[in-house]
Amino acid sequence: MKIAILSGGVGGARFVRGVVEVVGANATSVIGNVGDDVEVLGLHVSPDLDSILYALAGLSDEHRGWGRSEETWNALETVGALGGEDWFALGDRDLGLHLVRTQALRAGEPLSAVTARLAEALGVGAQLLPATNDRLRTWLETPAGRFPFQEWFVARGHRDEVDAVRFDGEDAARPAPGVLEAIEAADLILLAPSNPYVSIEPILAVRELREALAGRRVACVAVSPLIGGRAVKGPADRMLLRLAGGTSPRHVAGCYPGLIDALVVDDADADDLEGLGEVRPIVTRTLMSDADARRRLAEAALGAVPA
Ligand code: GDP
Ligand code: CA
Repeated sequence: MKIAILSGGVGGARFVRGVVEVVGANATSVIGNVGDDVEVLGLHVSPDLDSILYALAGLSDEHRGWGRSEETWNALETVGALGGEDWFALGDRDLGLHLVRTQALRAGEPLSAVTARLAEALGVGAQLLPATNDRLRTWLETPAGRFPFQEWFVARGHRDEVDAVRFDGEDAARPAPGVLEAIEAADLILLAPSNPYVSIEPILAVRELREALAGRRVACVAVSPLIGGRAVKGPADRMLLRLAGGTSPRHVAGCYPGLIDALVVDDADADDLEGLGEVRPIVTRTLMSDADARRRLAEAALGAVPA
């Protein structure tokens, strides 16, 4: 059995880890969001790809919820003391990865090739693919103006309500090598419980990728990132309320028109399953509080594969 998963950063990465624990690394291809990528201190940072890498390599800091465990911040403190750009938290261990990636990209290596090399070096057996090697960047339109993703999310703490999400470069973006093949070869496609607007949508903004999903011959199952209509973390609930008009399972499913066959929703949302149309609800506990919970959620999503 082969699985292709579309995933954002931290929320997606936890789920991806659960899937790998159930079906094995060799069966899993992950297609990651690059709309959050940012140049900081001259370095190319791919936060969502790195969250997946660190989660699968067992290196993530579970307590902080992002970044690497046993992290230290000496370089960033020095940057701050020198009056440098220190709004984006880069730990010392994390920086090492960004140095290697940036050098490779400058030497002309595509992001997909660098990412594969990093995954191998970290002992990650699953295939990790950026949605595209081309420049695709998420922008938010808000009442306070138009911001690049990280300026809105990190620098402004995603306090601005979002009126629209745009993807710079989407017209020219082609799927990275391996992406269409992974979707084509999959027996089941999964959309991780990531933010639909700023984690999954920038992946779907790659036209051929979206078309491949729309033309799938296998089931596609999304996992809702909301529990009782609330995001576990981050702005997904506020965005759904404002952009879709609500936070019920039908509003989440509405983010993926014609793209999903089932939606995994939490027990806490079980009394609100109206309006899902063709999308079959799969009701279970969806909080990935520990390794067991994360595996059970993966099993619930994987259970949708026809025998
Ligand atoms: P980011 O790129 O690091 O912001 O991460 P994602 O977009 O992949 O994930 C963020 C989403 O994950 C948020 O909307 C959370 O509500 C959701 N999330 C985080 N943990 C859980 C969990 O345990 N269960 C579910 N269902 N959703 C979760
Ligand atoms: Ca992200």
